Amino acid sequence: MRKTDYNGQTYWQNEIKAGKLKGHKMSKDTVQEDVVVSMEYTLHVDKEEIDSSKGQDPLQFLAGHGNIISGLEREMIGMKVGESKDVIIAPEDGYGEFDEEAFMNVPRDNFPKDIPVEEGTELTVKDDSGQSRYARIDTVDGDTVTLNFNHPLAGDELHFNVKVVGLREPTDEELEHGHVHQDGHSH
Ligand code: ZN
Repeated sequence: MRKTDYNGQTYWQNEIKAGKLKGHKMSKDTVQEDVVVSMEYTLHVDKEEIDSSKGQDPLQFLAGHGNIISGLEREMIGMKVGESKDVIIAPEDGYGEFDEEAFMNVPRDNFPKDIPVEEGTELTVKDDSGQSRYARIDTVDGDTVTLNFNHPLAGDELHFNVKVVGLREPTDEELEHGHVHQDGHSH
């Protein structure tokens, strides 16, 4: 799930702007494609809380555009504001199965000086096609560093509790881009 900073003021400005542009208020009252959803959530894995919106502003996402994990979005379709739900997501609908093959050995010399070469360091690695990929250092054995490309939650069953706290229409630009624009997001 992608987490973005949220700024109450920007949110309301967007909402007013969207209303003006479209000439009407939000007419949809359930989570569905092309609606911006504000949600509170808690995520447990193996009964341990590993992420939550508690103490933060709600997470916003544009439904139907792959902004959050597919299994969660599918379960949220049709929810109304104020409704909450427990959702269990299997690995294949979450962050994927753990892939034993997704490891790579890299010589220590290949790492820039400012990256701490130690177990657990998370980094972004460009692959041969120039795509950025998440990786973390799994083990360091002499001059050989093993990178693990699995998402930290790969293979985990995800237990979400979600609550829909707001729905609004996207701005034309948000719809065009396929994601929510909030404070700090610029192109
Ligand atoms: Zn954008």
